[in-house]
Amino acid sequence: MANLDTRELAEELEGLEDEMPHCPNCGGDHLSPPFGPRIWKCLSCHFAFDEPDMKDSEEDAERATAIRELLEEVDPDGDGETLISEDDFEEHARELAEEIGAIPDEIHWPFTCIDWKQAASDLQTDYSTVTFDGTDYYYVFGSLS
Ligand SMILES: [Zn+2]
Repeated sequence: MANLDTRELAEELEGLEDEMPHCPNCGGDHLSPPFGPRIWKCLSCHFAFDEPDMKDSEEDAERATAIRELLEEVDPDGDGETLISEDDFEEHARELAEEIGAIPDEIHWPFTCIDWKQAASDLQTDYSTVTFDGTDYYYVFGSLS
């Protein structure tokens, strides 16, 4: 799984919300996925309604809800966070080490023999984790990256 950028997810969410039906009571577009057979609930006014024509929107609504919850948890200010997938974390650790100049330009054995798995594992303690769409992601809470 690739890394995620919360700004991209926010854009996707906006697109999904545009596509989604609106609440017949308040016009809001924050709807929860259907409960049971096509019963939807508005997250703004808590109006529950039956909407048989919205079948195609169920998946979108689930995705929108998942993204909304993720953004609320990891990026409530909307200033953008990078979520690094578990699989990419070792790579991230290498890049970070280079970025911060932790690795001299000219290194030779035995300094080339870094245990990146261990280094990544140590680095992970500075990160928060979140699970999205079945994948674990690491992020620095409140970072402006
Ligand atoms: Zn409503």
